[in-house]
Amino acid sequence: MDVVRLKTDEDQALRAGRPWVYRSEIARLEGRPATGDVVDVVDDRGVFVARGFYHEHSVLATRVLTRRRGEVVDTAFFDARIQAAWDLRRRLLADPAVCRVVFAEADGLPGLIADRFGEVIVIQVLVAGMEARLPELVDAIARATGVEAFYERNDGPVRRLEGLPERVGPLRGDPEDRVWLEETGVRMALDLRRGQKTGHFLDQRENRAAFGRMVRELLVRDAAGPVRVLDAFCHTGGFGLQALAVGADQVVFLDSSPAVLEGVVANSRANGWEGERVRIQEANAFDALRAHVRQAESFDAVVVDPPAFARSRRRLDGAYRGYRDLNVHALRLLRPGGLLCSCSCSQPVSEEMFERMLCDAATDAGRSVRVLERRGAAIDHPGLLGAEETRYLKCFLLQVVS
Ligand code: SAH
Repeated sequence: MDVVRLKTDEDQALRAGRPWVYRSEIARLEGRPATGDVVDVVDDRGVFVARGFYHEHSVLATRVLTRRRGEVVDTAFFDARIQAAWDLRRRLLADPAVCRVVFAEADGLPGLIADRFGEVIVIQVLVAGMEARLPELVDAIARATGVEAFYERNDGPVRRLEGLPERVGPLRGDPEDRVWLEETGVRMALDLRRGQKTGHFLDQRENRAAFGRMVRELLVRDAAGPVRVLDAFCHTGGFGLQALAVGADQVVFLDSSPAVLEGVVANSRANGWEGERVRIQEANAFDALRAHVRQAESFDAVVVDPPAFARSRRRLDGAYRGYRDLNVHALRLLRPGGLLCSCSCSQPVSEEMFERMLCDAATDAGRSVRVLERRGAAIDHPGLLGAEETRYLKCFLLQVVS
């Protein structure tokens, strides 16, 4: 087996749980590993640290598969990992028919994502070493879950960086582009072909339910007038639909993508909600929030759930300003007692930094705000200690005091 030898001390983060090796940490290669090969990573004295997939060009030069010396990486290895991933979901979730079955590094399967939407599983492969094994991985997932229809969403910038071709469409069986599912009592259709990522953000589903409960208990119960909600960056509309389900009178669904908004209209209708209750706004949320403030609009709850603004640390300043701008305007739109559900899925933005941003935004908006709950990704998206990036999702439920 070829060997990746690390520079002095560069084994420490790896030993502390980080599941990848940066190219800059490598002292030298022993052998000539090619992209997708399994290599051993050793420290500067030659002591084994981990075994993983090598990549010739990616900044993540090795992705850890195992920390057990000599563990054989073969079909049985991947079968066992996939079975373990499914067992975790089956045991922990009330309804494992809709869940993330495999979450990459957190399940010891770097670069492999599998989202189950009932009788269809959507696969996303982001790492060359996994790509080569795709048919056997799909076999293993089918065996574990009993699901026979698979769809692939092998597109997006991460695959391009990894040098992988882009493919979207059925992978096995005969899945359609559109699937229906029920999330916390709400019927939703997903567009597997055109939706973001795998078609639906499962990581937010417990947060959408928590938001719905707060809208019901704090806003709808004993409401003095109509309850209005703004769902900014709504995608399939999950947050706003939960608000409608608990009795909000009107939701403004805001997104810049017309395709996404067509889906929101269809989802609303499927639950019997239309007319004045469902407002669609196709706009850039930065401009739209400003315009709502200028027009002195008022909402009882606002959701701000933008796409990742920072993929690397170099982008942190810009991301901070972006989040602050959105949250200042969201807070200005809220009446006292109103709720802000503010999220960030930017990996390099820590929870601490996100909280600081919220504090700055509240100061700028002249609002006194309390934190009702801080949440992360759903339980089927575990994060790793030693790799804060894998705990990427922050979701704060806040209430304007005055
Ligand atoms: N809240 C959603 C997930 C949001 S994903 C859920 O719970 O499922 C981010 C969404 O932001 C995408 O639908 C994308 O189309 C939209 N988007 C990206 N940039 C935008 C912008 N500048 N203004 C408005 N929407 C934007």
